Amino acid sequence: MTGDSDDLRGPGAARADYDVTVVGAGIVGLATARELRTRRPDLRVAVVDGADEVAGHQTGHNSGVIHAGVYYAPGSLKARLCVEGARRMYAYCAERGIPTERVGKLVVAVDASELPRLDELERRSRANGVTFERVGPERMREIEPHCTGVAALHSPNTGIVDFAAVARALADDVRAAGGDVLLGRAVTGVGRRGDLRVLQTPQGPIVTRGLVGCAGAWADRLAVADGGSPDPRIVPFRGAYLRLRPEATGLVRGLIYPVPNPDLPFLGVHLTRHVSGDVLLGPTALLVGARDAYGIGRVRRRDLGATLRWPGTWRLARRFWRTGIAELATAVSRRAFVASAARYVPELTVEDVTDGWAGIRAQAVSRDGRLVDDFVFDERPGALHVRNAPSPAATSALAIAALVADRAGEVLELRGAAGAARGPGGR
Ligand SMILES: Cc1cc2nc3c(=O)[nH]c(=O)nc-3n(C[C@H](O)[C@H](O)[C@H](O)COP(=O)(O)OP(=O)(O)OC[C@H]3O[C@@H](n4cnc5c(N)ncnc54)[C@H](O)[C@@H]3O)c2cc1C
Repeated sequence: MTGDSDDLRGPGAARADYDVTVVGAGIVGLATARELRTRRPDLRVAVVDGADEVAGHQTGHNSGVIHAGVYYAPGSLKARLCVEGARRMYAYCAERGIPTERVGKLVVAVDASELPRLDELERRSRANGVTFERVGPERMREIEPHCTGVAALHSPNTGIVDFAAVARALADDVRAAGGDVLLGRAVTGVGRRGDLRVLQTPQGPIVTRGLVGCAGAWADRLAVADGGSPDPRIVPFRGAYLRLRPEATGLVRGLIYPVPNPDLPFLGVHLTRHVSGDVLLGPTALLVGARDAYGIGRVRRRDLGATLRWPGTWRLARRFWRTGIAELATAVSRRAFVASAARYVPELTVEDVTDGWAGIRAQAVSRDGRLVDDFVFDERPGALHVRNAPSPAATSALAIAALVADRAGEVLELRGAAGAARGPGGR
């Protein structure tokens, strides 16, 4: 794996397997590796993941919505990178022949009490440069005939895609450009050898000059292993889905969302058409005992201990215990689950749904008990860690990748003449 032009890369490089190793073959890590390798074909780049396939965690278990940028606080990273990321995502999918559909989204206020929050979303949409239409009940029915409410925002550019398919295409791009995608290789520790980092894996060490952490639900653990701060900590929130039975999918044309609780970074239980034709109901948001709690009963002692020992968890629980109880009710009762969406699609009944699946949100919680709303990037000499990349990070992945690549030259100290050593694939 060692290259032949290490003299271009400064002291110590002779012993490095890679110039940059990205930990995490989700959509963010793969997009980042592709961007780095595209900009700097001379760099030896690898993506390493403990799972046996790409997109094994959040990237393969989500609503599949290309968000337009309706929700996010103007000026935030989420606002900027979502709008830019959606533009890049549609373009990339068109280039790679990955199906997308701009099915449009309604965010529905079911009664007058929700109008101030809808007004705020309208303000944010305008500030973020998002195309939208404020609609009343009549127009709402034209867009979604089975939906009721007093007013809604319609976002025509919100669309759908299979993010796992995008991740597979990105992995192919990385490989085609000469990078490595190493699966089934969990990083269990991070050591140092001079300026280099030594990533410990069960198959042996990987020696790298630069490290980019895109580890999703394990982002905090990787950052701490690399000498970073324990704050913020990832607390796993399970998002369960039900599926509409085929005979009920006609209740939804595109995407129907409630007005979200402004105190939480979650969007509320929504109805989403998937590119496969399925219509999903969900996701819930239940704090769980494992970072891979795809089955609701899975508890891992280490994960549960990390959540319970974190002061932020208890501060969060004190603020949101009522919401927590409501989430638990939705998680255990299909009737309560369906009722949350029947507020805006009243014809929906429990007979219309069947079993679905679940994803686990990697949500950062700060020591002081805040659900960290914005994306968080942590830079240290030779490493850049993506510490909080929940929704809409799948939409934003290509823009996040560009941001990380912009910073990489400085942070990862990537000296050397681009393209001087090898062309693409010339490893
Ligand atoms: C229920 C749900 C619904 C969502 N809906 C949407 C949506 O509609 N639209 C949207 O834009 N976003 C959505 N999101 C968010 C989106 O899925 C994530 O923001 C995005 O997938 C994050 O990608 P990632 O690459 O950072 O993380 P992941 O896809 O989780 O990838 C992280 C990878 O790191 C690997 N890893 C971790 N630690 C190590 C280690 N030590 N060694 C090796 N490998 C390691 C893991 O195996 C994993 O494959 C949703 C998320 C959930 C959970």
